[in-house]
Amino acid sequence: MREMLERAATALRSRGFEAAVLDTAAEAAEYVLSDMPQGASVAIGGSMTVRQTGLCERLRAQGRRVYWHWEVPPAERPALLHEAMGADVYLCSANALTQGGLIVQIDGNGNRIAGMCYGPQTVYVLIGRNKLVEGGYAQALRRVKEIACPQNARRQGLDTPCTREGRCNAEACASSMCHITAAFERAPGGKRTVAVLIDEDLGY
Ligand code: SF4
Repeated sequence: MREMLERAATALRSRGFEAAVLDTAAEAAEYVLSDMPQGASVAIGGSMTVRQTGLCERLRAQGRRVYWHWEVPPAERPALLHEAMGADVYLCSANALTQGGLIVQIDGNGNRIAGMCYGPQTVYVLIGRNKLVEGGYAQALRRVKEIACPQNARRQGLDTPCTREGRCNAEACASSMCHITAAFERAPGGKRTVAVLIDEDLGY
């Protein structure tokens, strides 16, 4: 698996991303903490992977300002998401990564995609080995729809066709989480984006 991650890292670099390959979530957390600017404020996109690294708690222990909409009541989220775009650093995961270095995200309200494109000048995308797919965009999309979305829907208590039937049926999906799909073919311009590939299963 490590070799596949190294190949994906090489492909990401050829697309303008920085990339690091780490063995564990703990090592990835150390890497991110040591690499990010001193005192930088940090926004976190919805991410089980980031939660599993324990980075939020460690960033707060360092006295940093951390914006994470998962921690506030729903009524406060829009304002916090808006504020988060002014953070120095953005942390998120990816829904899928191809071996060719294509990162694919599907968002409900677009905050992760927005955070990766605008706002924070440094972005870390933490990607567990389970997100890596063989093939291209179609396989990445399939992974998101058949693996990531059902688990995310269950976590949120949503009744969706993908949770009931194991496959997407967007026309019959009244509680869709899939509003915006983005494929990052190259690193967004004007900022630094670091893909942190981890040789552990993390997130969905
Ligand atoms: S559109 Fe609905 S059914 Fe399809 S993957 Fe998204 S949440 Fe699941």
